[in-house]
Amino acid sequence: MAYGLTEEQRMFQTMVHRLAEERVQPRAAEIDATGEFPWDMVDLFRENGLIGVGMPEELGGGGADLLTFCLAVEEVARVCATSSLIIAAQHLGAMPILIAGTPEQKAQFIPAVASGEKLSAFALTEPEAGSDAGGTKTHAVRVGDQYRINGTKVFITNGGLAKTIVVFASTQPDAGVRGISAFIVDGEQPGVSVGRVEKKMGIRGSQTAMLNFDDVLVDGDRLLGKEGDGFKIAMRTLDRTRPGIAAQALGIAQGALDVSYRHVQTRRQFGQALGQFEAIQFMLADMQTQIEASRHLLYKAAEVVETAGFDTVSSSEVTRFSAMAKLMCSDTAMKVTTDAVQLLGGYGYIQDYPAERMMRDAKITQIYEGTNQVQRLVIYRNMDMER
Ligand SMILES: Cc1cc2nc3c(=O)[nH]c(=O)nc-3n(C[C@H](O)[C@H](O)[C@H](O)COP(=O)(O)OP(=O)(O)OC[C@H]3O[C@@H](n4cnc5c(N)ncnc54)[C@H](O)[C@@H]3O)c2cc1C
Repeated sequence: MAYGLTEEQRMFQTMVHRLAEERVQPRAAEIDATGEFPWDMVDLFRENGLIGVGMPEELGGGGADLLTFCLAVEEVARVCATSSLIIAAQHLGAMPILIAGTPEQKAQFIPAVASGEKLSAFALTEPEAGSDAGGTKTHAVRVGDQYRINGTKVFITNGGLAKTIVVFASTQPDAGVRGISAFIVDGEQPGVSVGRVEKKMGIRGSQTAMLNFDDVLVDGDRLLGKEGDGFKIAMRTLDRTRPGIAAQALGIAQGALDVSYRHVQTRRQFGQALGQFEAIQFMLADMQTQIEASRHLLYKAAEVVETAGFDTVSSSEVTRFSAMAKLMCSDTAMKVTTDAVQLLGGYGYIQDYPAERMMRDAKITQIYEGTNQVQRLVIYRNMDMER
């Protein structure tokens, strides 16, 4: 049984693989070139039950385990990283509610996100609080039964498109991370506005924007968990979503290997196909090996993280595996896509071939949901030296 996948998981993987080849791949270069958010891909994923595939069935999702969710992201990323981010970002925006929401909050907000009727977003990063989320300046002040939120978030995936946004804001500014709280905010409510929409190196069809919150009033029942739980909720969320970014990275790497392997079979120099030169074979062998090692770590991590379900507490094993998978798969994606460009020579560097897009797309996987330096800090702090 390849990678220990169940029969059901393998059938699902084949279904997504075909869909990606037939319906996503033909759009990938255009999405990258125009930089426009691909609503047709949202529709495609809604029609095929992929947009909320990892969300609970009773809330309108696909009820898939984390590994199955990762298979979906991986297969789509293999041909188009931007499109795979639609699935991963939807999961990220829903996760704080799935982890910390009351049954009423879940029933109110998850079904529309799980069906794709509304896009979601996770708004943690700020101009002065990136890797150090404890520096959060956005604040929420209690006013009677409501909270008034003020502040600015940057680099928010789906910013300006998402109607369900989980916003992290300090309710006790002198308490650092222990003063951060999480709120569910409606993207269309008064006081929420979109600032700069970023122009990016890669994942160019994904919308990344600044969001301003000016005297945004939310009812008390929009608070997730208790006041001060926000940082914990954010970290638990990332424990459960980093495997999705690892899957995106792995898919990009596999796509780059597919492209470069095919290229060297037919491109001839010095009287023979490039693939007949040992130096080229060695590069491809290394790429394949790095991908296989990354895939095994990711699938193992998905299994470990799945055991934690949507609990509000993660074991150090869950946190460590999640970070290790993201670190390894994204470093592999960067290495393999760079080598793919090299294997295509000048053709790797021009936009008529997908290798350069894959290399640009790979870079973000080393940066978002915590940079890879941050993953190393997380892994070190959760190391298991008992054995
Ligand atoms: C396309 C895109 C989409 C994004 N989507 C979202 C989103 O949906 N929601 C959201 O909240 N955020 C999002 N982000 C933000 C992203 O998570 C942050 O950019 C990232 O966490 C890094 O923060 P920063 O950019 O402020 O970099 P900084 O924190 O300023 O880091 C700069 C460099 O210093 C390194 N560094 C920082 N601290 C340490 C340390 N202690 N030890 C060693 N090295 C360190 C970093 O690793 C990095 O290399 C997105 C970003 C991008 C570019």
